[in-house]
Amino acid sequence: MNQKFIPLSVPNFHGKELEYVTHAVETEWVSTGGSYVNEFEAKVAEYANCKGAVSCQNGTSGLHIALQVCGVTKDDEVIVPTLTFIAAVNPVRYIGAEPIFMDCDNSFTMDIVKLEEFCENECTFTGKGLINNRTNKRIIALLVVHVFGNMADMEGIIRIAEKYNLKVIEDATEAIGTYYTEGKYKNKYAGTIGDIGVYSFNGNKIITTGGGGMIVSNNEGLLKKAKHLTTQAKSDELYYTHDEIGYNYRLTNLQAALGLAQLEQLESFIQTKKENFEFYQREIDKIPGLRLLKFKVNIRPNYWFYAVYIEENYKINRDQVIQYLAAKKVQARPIWGLISEQKPYEGSQTYKIEQAKKYLEHVVNIPCSSNLSKEDATYVIECLKQPEVV
Ligand SMILES: *Cc1c(COP(=O)(O)O)cnc(C)c1O
Repeated sequence: MNQKFIPLSVPNFHGKELEYVTHAVETEWVSTGGSYVNEFEAKVAEYANCKGAVSCQNGTSGLHIALQVCGVTKDDEVIVPTLTFIAAVNPVRYIGAEPIFMDCDNSFTMDIVKLEEFCENECTFTGKGLINNRTNKRIIALLVVHVFGNMADMEGIIRIAEKYNLKVIEDATEAIGTYYTEGKYKNKYAGTIGDIGVYSFNGNKIITTGGGGMIVSNNEGLLKKAKHLTTQAKSDELYYTHDEIGYNYRLTNLQAALGLAQLEQLESFIQTKKENFEFYQREIDKIPGLRLLKFKVNIRPNYWFYAVYIEENYKINRDQVIQYLAAKKVQARPIWGLISEQKPYEGSQTYKIEQAKKYLEHVVNIPCSSNLSKEDATYVIECLKQPEVV
C-alpha cells in the first residue's frame, strides 16, 4: 500500500472561504480597508465575548502592539515563559525591553509557584512598582502563553499581577476557543482575562487566514490605542496627521474574508479535534511507555496540539520517534527549543528552569489537523504500537 503523508497541522477549507474571498476580489476590496475586516473583528469579539478586537498582520505584530499599549518601554523588563514559540518573546526585544524567563508547570504553561517565589525573593516591591534586584529595573508585565490550547492558571496569574502591579498580556495565539468551565473566570475565553490578549491565524493554527492575528481586550482604551498603532497612528483621515510612530500592521480584507469563513467553522473544528484527542488518548494509554498529556479539567480547551510523553521504558527515544514516524510518513515534531537557550537570549535572566527541560526531552507532537480522519489517526496509533529504530 502506498501510504499518504500525514502532516502535523494543516488548514481545513470546507466552508465559505472561496465565496467570501471571491466576493472580496470581485468587489475589488482586497487591501486593508473593507467590510470583511470590520466584520471579522466584530465576530471574533462576539465569539470570545469581549469588548472589542483589532486585527493585525499576524500574532507576532499583535504581541508587539499589545506590549506597547500596556506601557512596556526599553527601560522595562517583562516576565515570559521559556517553553514556547520564540515569537512570543521577540516582541519584548523589538521594544528594547528585557525578558526574564520562567519555568513551566505540568500543563506547559507558566509555573505560578515559581513566578510568585521570584517576585517575592528576587525583587523588591516599591512605590515605583516591582524592581528586579539583579538589574534594578522595573518589571512591568507578565506575558503568559496558553500553550497548545491549554489555559495558563489565570486565577493565579491575575492574583500575582494584582499583588505586584503588573500588566498581563495573554499570548492566546494557540488558544482561540479555549475557555473556563468553572471557577472565578467561568465562561471567560483565553485572551480576554488579562489586560490584553492576542490570537494568531497562521497556517498551522486552528483557524487560519494564511497569516493574520487579532488583539482582543475588555479595555476600550487599550483597544483604541492598538487600532491607532496598527494603522500608522493616523489622527486625521483627510489631512494625514500622525501623532506618534505607528505601524502598517492591519489585516487585509482578503485575509479577513478567509478568517470569517474559518471562524464560522471553529466550533466544529474543535469538536473534531476533541474526538481525535479522545481516540488518541484511549489508544495511546494502552501503549506501554507512552501517554497523551491531558488538558486541564476546569476548561474547555480548543485541543489545538496533542503532546505525547515518551517515558524511559518506551523502546525508542524522542528523536528516534520523530525519525521513525517520518519514515512511516507521519509528521511529528519535538517541542520548541527553550527560548532562554537561543542565541539572542544567551545572557538573559532565567529562574529555576527545570520542568521545561524535561518536557523538551520527552515530548513530541503528533498529527492533529481538524481534517485528520479516523483512518489517519488509527494509522498513527498502529505505528506507535510497533516502535523501531530506523
Ligand atoms: C504562532 C505563535 C505566535 C506567532 O503568531 P504568528 O501569527 O505566526 O506571528 C506567537 N506565539 C505563539 C505561542 C505561537 O504559537
